[in-house]
Amino acid sequence: MECPKCGTWNPDDRRTCWRCGAPLPKPQTKKKRSQLIFMNLPLWVWGLLAAMFLFWILSRFLY
Ligand SMILES: [Zn+2]
Repeated sequence: MECPKCGTWNPDDRRTCWRCGAPLPKPQTKKKRSQLIFMNLPLWVWGLLAAMFLFWILSRFLY
């Protein structure tokens, strides 16, 4: 990223500018999306799970 103070490019893993020592903003992480990967399942997966759950409930009552 570029230093907000002097505009010098710095590696993303650096916390301070190598040239002027100014603190660099934290790089934007993409972990939020991976944490919600369970919610990003396709709709047919949820439908399949719901169908299996309903079938399991019905089988409990029928037999
Ligand atoms: Zn700088």
